[in-house]
Amino acid sequence: MFDSCIYGEHETEGTFLREVKRKARKRHKCCECVAPIEPGEWYQHAEGVYDDGRFWSVRTCEVCHRIRKSLVRGSFIYGELWNAIEEYYCKDREDAKTMLPPTLLKAWKYE
Ligand SMILES: [Zn+2]
Repeated sequence: MFDSCIYGEHETEGTFLREVKRKARKRHKCCECVAPIEPGEWYQHAEGVYDDGRFWSVRTCEVCHRIRKSLVRGSFIYGELWNAIEEYYCKDREDAKTMLPPTLLKAWKYE
């Protein structure tokens, strides 16, 4: 458990509105593992509004959502899940290669 370890100053930015489960009608990208969310797949859609009035929204695939739900207590920052997992659970870069999703390894140029 991270127990509110995933927390940062940005967390308090703006107002969180809601998170709802949606079925993708077109291809999206997961904000955590950067893998595609294909049409027909379920994902979590979260949205809110910044203090300056701009809206923000992020999409999380089912897998990352479940991992986040089971690991994170309290506040977190969207898009920081795997960073936190690497920081708290991985001994080193080689260890991270066995734990992080392939899509992220590619995006982070770990391969
Ligand atoms: Zn994901």
